[in-house]
Amino acid sequence: MLKLNDLHVSYGGIEAVKGISFAVPEGSIVTLIGANGAGKSTVLRSIVGLVKPKSGSVVFQDEEITGKSSDEIVAKGITLVPEGRRVFSNLSVLENLKIGAYMRKEDLTKDLNWIYDLFPRLKERSWQMAGTLSGGEQQMLAVGRALMSKPKLIMMDEPSLGLAPLIVQGIFDIIKEINKQGVTILLIEQNANLALKAADYGYVLETGHIILSGTGAELLANEEVKAAYLGKS
Ligand code: ATP
Repeated sequence: MLKLNDLHVSYGGIEAVKGISFAVPEGSIVTLIGANGAGKSTVLRSIVGLVKPKSGSVVFQDEEITGKSSDEIVAKGITLVPEGRRVFSNLSVLENLKIGAYMRKEDLTKDLNWIYDLFPRLKERSWQMAGTLSGGEQQMLAVGRALMSKPKLIMMDEPSLGLAPLIVQGIFDIIKEINKQGVTILLIEQNANLALKAADYGYVLETGHIILSGTGAELLANEEVKAAYLGKS
């Protein structure tokens, strides 16, 4: 569904992504893990058109989308749940969800019901200002808002960041449920243990390169991964 070919991205003179190639098959959950600064967010931001790659290509459903605008890319069916959630604090839950569907003209009732089924908590709180939700609820809202664009591929940047373990488990259960319902998922995580358990396939990034790849189970059993990323899990 998604293919990156030898992607290079620089900020000023500094190369953050140094030739990355990988594929995300339709219907899968793929995860990128790696230390802070490895280039994971930069990869996602270049897929969705927020940064322009220096070279290489991004191909989505057999069409090259490298360098297209974010609006065009969202319209093709890719959406990003950014790190730190970034909901609109002064708008209600419902207003936030509607913003996720800003490109769509059809009746949203069915999709709102879909989101409320996935996240009953958001239904209970649809009139609450988003800024007053708990961290976990804001993460649910960020995911719900992204789903309102009806993506074929949803990319999530650190969905577990700053959340209590029980809430994190809930978020991962939802990620798996969304995937079961047919949405392909590309996930970046610091919590390598949970991400690799959920993922069909994983890639380990270090200073802009992919240094290891394998199925989630293979990487979980890999000694290098255990030593570097699973120590505290
Ligand atoms: P984290 O887990 O901390 O978010 P990451 O693996 O997602 O890390 P990136 O955020 O992609 O890593 O950053 C990769 C490198 O690019 C880092 O060295 C970072 O300082 C640099 N970088 C990221 N954004 C910018 C920017 N807007 N301008 C300059 N340098 C940047």
